[in-house]
Amino acid sequence: TYKEIATPSRTREILEKYGFSFKKSLGQNFLTEPNVLRKIAETAELSEEVNVIEIGPGIGALTEHLARLAKQVIAFEIDGRLIPVLKETMSIYPNVKVINQDVLKADLVKETDEHFDLKQKIKVVANLPYYITTPILMHLIEGELEISEMVVMMQKEVADRISAKPSTKAYGSLSIAVQYFYDAELAFIVPKTVFTPQPNVDSAILKLVKREQPIVNVLDEREFFKLTRASFELRRKTLWNNLLHVYGKDEKAREWLTFALEKANIDPKRRGETLSLQEFAALSNAMVESGK
Ligand code: SAM
Repeated sequence: TYKEIATPSRTREILEKYGFSFKKSLGQNFLTEPNVLRKIAETAELSEEVNVIEIGPGIGALTEHLARLAKQVIAFEIDGRLIPVLKETMSIYPNVKVINQDVLKADLVKETDEHFDLKQKIKVVANLPYYITTPILMHLIEGELEISEMVVMMQKEVADRISAKPSTKAYGSLSIAVQYFYDAELAFIVPKTVFTPQPNVDSAILKLVKREQPIVNVLDEREFFKLTRASFELRRKTLWNNLLHVYGKDEKAREWLTFALEKANIDPKRRGETLSLQEFAALSNAMVESGK
C-alpha cells in the first residue's frame, strides 16, 4: 500500500528509524507538505513521455511524485547517509535511479544516455540545496545536456533575480544569463513553514522553459556574457564607467567603446540595469564587429 513520504509524521518516522540528523552545510531542508509536492509535480507537466533529473532527493519526498508521473527518474544525492533511506523509500518505484554523487561533478550526458529513452524530453525538477542554487543552475544551463524545462525550488530572492525584467532592482547578469536561453516565470511562492527544519527565507518555484533559439541574436556568446557581467559590476556607476573598468581606460578602448555605443544607439550615461537583452545584444555585436 502507498503511504506518502512527505507527511510530517511519516518523515519523522523515517528520520528516526535511520537516526538521521540534518546537515545545514548541505542545504538539507526537507519538504513535509504533500500539497506543495503535488503542485510542484503538476507545474512540471510530467507524463510517460518525459524523463526527469532530480537534484537532492533527500528521503524521496518529491521523488515519489516524479516517479508516479514520469517515465524515468535519475536522482543525484550527495549525502551517502541518505542512500539506504532512499533504497527503502524508493523500493516500490522501479523507474527511479539514485546516484550518490555531487551533481556538479556528474556526467549528465553519460548518465542520461544510460538510463533514459533518448527520444524523450528531459526535465529537471528539484527542491535545490540553497547554498549552491546559482552554481547548479549555471552548470545545467551551460552544460551539453538538452534540458527542455526546469521546475526548481529556490530562495525567493534568487527566483526574483532570475525572472527580473529590466529597470528593476533584481535585474542583473543572472537574469540575462538565464533568460537568454530560457523563458523564466515565477510559478508560486512557498512559505518557510512547510520545511523541516525551516529555512531562514521564503522560497519560490521557478519554471524555466527552454527557448527554441536564444531570445536575441548574438555574434559571440562569450563576449555577450562578458559584457552583461561587466555592465553590472558596480551597480551605481554608469554603463560607461563600468565598461572602462573592464575593457580598459586607454584611448583605443575609449574610441572603440564610443563607436560601438553609438552604433548600438545606447547612451553611455545610462546604467546597466536599464538595458534590455536586445540592447545588450546590439551593443555586444557592435563591439565584436568593430574589432578589438
Ligand atoms: N528533495 C528533498 C525534499 O524536497 O524534501 C530534499 C531537498 S533539500 C532542500 C536538498 C538536498 O540536496 C539534500 O538532500 C542534500 O543532501 C542534497 N544536496 C546538497 N548538495 C548536493 C549536491 N552538490 N549534489 C547533489 N545533492 C546535493
